[in-house]
Amino acid sequence: MPRLSPNVARIALSSLRAPPRPIPRAAIAFARPAATTLAITLPFSWFAKEKPLHESHLPTEQETTADMSDKVQKTDSEWIAQLSPEQFRVLRQGGTERPGSSPLDKKFDAGTYHCAGCDAPLYTSKTKFNSGCGWPAFYDTVPGAVVRHEDNSLGMTRTEIVCAKCGGHLGHVFKGEGFNNPIDERHCVNGISLNFKEEEKK
Ligand SMILES: [Zn+2]
Repeated sequence: MPRLSPNVARIALSSLRAPPRPIPRAAIAFARPAATTLAITLPFSWFAKEKPLHESHLPTEQETTADMSDKVQKTDSEWIAQLSPEQFRVLRQGGTERPGSSPLDKKFDAGTYHCAGCDAPLYTSKTKFNSGCGWPAFYDTVPGAVVRHEDNSLGMTRTEIVCAKCGGHLGHVFKGEGFNNPIDERHCVNGISLNFKEEEKK
């Protein structure tokens, strides 16, 4: 083993004994706002039970270069500014509203149900039925308005339904439950994801 020269040993020792250097003022000035930002942004995503912010429907680089002329794409900040906190949680983070909480569940007036995020017409009263499940239920959509994805969250495989125009989470679709409708499907939709527009009386 090589022997350290006395000089090297002295330098090494002196650096160990040296008092900690004071942090430059510039570094503190920089660190403070960063820490404040972290404190503001952390709890919001930290406590969200559903998809964290970075997993919600943010456009990827590839998507933004594709032809998206008909699509609505917004940043999370823009959605937060536009939607209520509960709408943001459900539409943009894949949350579920409390069953029985939506007044639209028991609404059967003639009209159209639009996406609460981008206003696209998604369902009509013609395909709405009373499922008794606590959420508005439809057996069909406005053609092309709703897209299906496999959802493996919560330890089960379900079919998630999202708005084709803005990607907003609507709910899930279930098949073969024995409901008396033409295709035996139930689009179980969070009422908070929808805005009802009554049909104009002629
Ligand atoms: Zn939408």
